[in-house]
Amino acid sequence: MPAIRRILVEEEAAAYETSQRILNRLRGIPVEVIPERGVLRATDRRPAAWLAEAKSTLLLAVQKGPFWRPCPGTKGYICCGYQVLQTALNCPLDCTYCILQGYVNLPALTIFVNQEDLIAELRGRWAQNPQQVWRLGTGEFNDSLALDELSGLHERLLPLFAENRCAILEIKSKWSRLEHLLSLGPNSQVIFAWSLNPPMVIRREERGAASLLARLSAARQAAEAGFRLAFHFDPLLFFPGWQEAYRRTVEQLAKAVPPRKIAWISLGALRFMPALRQVILVRFPRSRLAAEEMVLAPDGKLRYFKDLRVEMFSLLKEWLNEILPGVFLYLCMESPRVWQEVFGFRPEGGLLAKLLDERAMTKTG
Ligand code: SF4
Repeated sequence: MPAIRRILVEEEAAAYETSQRILNRLRGIPVEVIPERGVLRATDRRPAAWLAEAKSTLLLAVQKGPFWRPCPGTKGYICCGYQVLQTALNCPLDCTYCILQGYVNLPALTIFVNQEDLIAELRGRWAQNPQQVWRLGTGEFNDSLALDELSGLHERLLPLFAENRCAILEIKSKWSRLEHLLSLGPNSQVIFAWSLNPPMVIRREERGAASLLARLSAARQAAEAGFRLAFHFDPLLFFPGWQEAYRRTVEQLAKAVPPRKIAWISLGALRFMPALRQVILVRFPRSRLAAEEMVLAPDGKLRYFKDLRVEMFSLLKEWLNEILPGVFLYLCMESPRVWQEVFGFRPEGGLLAKLLDERAMTKTG
């Protein structure tokens, strides 16, 4: 488990079962009770100054707003209709390119302990529209698995999803420990997903994350326990020799798991808000990511030039079609033009979400 050196507990969070579970497991680590998390708000506007320490401080807090939020799509880019459960904020792993570095303003790894409210919220939303397909995920504001043994979140969520056959849970991670969840399978409504990159990129740019082989071995365990899988080649990074490195990664993926177990694979190229470039340069001076040539896209993010994105996506698509035939592929937050050049069509007007919903409900494997 990631090294936690200090625990902060919001007064209101202390009595929750999840807080008690976590404090019991982390006995011996100094604990401080604080009135509420607002007192911690980072006043130093340079996240590079406090981010490293934030990754060893755990905050147990109460989620006061909704847990369930639609993924904020961007005008002009094709959105997949994903729904996000904000069950935690910030991540103990430390990827160079992590967009949370420009987003999180609390100097701590925050776990929202009021899981009872999350469960009630899910049941309430599902009851409003029982026929609606929902693809929900816990891995947008943190890594879904890195603190899961501690929080016990997915031990509660997995059985809950069996209550609604139209609800699909995607657990996204770069972590490899999931043994505590295996006995909760089989469950085809639960999709374990890993973000993949070549081993050299993982070593250089994904500090603290599991190796490629460890992720693939965890994926095989999940498949054997009766869960479906997904993979995200996101962010795809450009570097000398990227073609060979990514082709080899696709081959390793195909050796590890059968295609019929894979619900979908997404492709997304490196992108981030311009302010993140400075954070990366200060925090990771040896990384070349922030030095690559990028262009300011209409969504305000820096992206690789379109031709390079199309080349990367097209080659990945070709290899995946050849090595894992029949697997469902899609682009994450890409423009209609790029879709057209890579796939020959534009899934606009909610079509991509519809295709993914159909795929989600095809519970094969
Ligand atoms: S695993 Fe995801 S959330 Fe965690 S540091 Fe890496 S990119 Fe950020």
